[in-house]
Amino acid sequence: MNIILLGYPGSGKGTQAKVLSQKLGLMHFSTGDIFREEISKHSPLGLEAAGYLSGGRLVPDKLVLDLIKSRLAAETRGLLFDGFPRTVEQAQVLDEYLSSRGLAVDMVFFLDLPEQEVVSRLGARRTCVKCGMIYNLLTSAPAKENTCDACGGALALREDDKPEVIKKRIMVYRDQTEPLLAYYKGNGVFSEVKADLAPQAITGQILSSLKTGLHG
Ligand code: AMP
Repeated sequence: MNIILLGYPGSGKGTQAKVLSQKLGLMHFSTGDIFREEISKHSPLGLEAAGYLSGGRLVPDKLVLDLIKSRLAAETRGLLFDGFPRTVEQAQVLDEYLSSRGLAVDMVFFLDLPEQEVVSRLGARRTCVKCGMIYNLLTSAPAKENTCDACGGALALREDDKPEVIKKRIMVYRDQTEPLLAYYKGNGVFSEVKADLAPQAITGQILSSLKTGLHG
């Protein structure tokens, strides 16, 4: 089973992907996490990607697609994509890639969040620098200030969650990623979930529509 989570930055894709990949035994594939990891290692890919991330722009398709193909080549589990695809070209290449292996995108969940909420959510988002756990100071704050509940690591504001970069990321989403909604609506695997609910409620909705989709 291959699933894609779509939605504005801050709509909860990362939070849902972490839980769902565990529950469903899928590989959580977050291109954003991979880029941040490569940047922190100062690898050649990280050096090339860094300026795009800090400016809130998309990494060029060629780089992203090379990365996808190299990372997925040996993967036998189903895939849960979080933050990929982000352009129609990426979606087309993913379709071709999966179909060359006799696979397909089985479900696309669009986490629908009103745009006004995106800004406040991203500004309040904190990520554990050690284990990657995601918090929101307004809706899911850690028990102890600035400290991860799960591993005790320090919490940080992402470089690209600063107000001037958030604006740019919203524009980039509208221009380059939103057309994916029409792309996937057209091929019958699209499902919409309200993203301004509690994370557990969103997970519940996704799991139940997967059940209906697969058995009904
Ligand atoms: P995310 O963690 O998914 O919000 O991604 C953070 C940043 O990584 C984005 O703003 C882009 O600069 C870059 N990025 C992540 N995924 C992609 C992708 N599929 N295509 C292009 N750039 C990406």
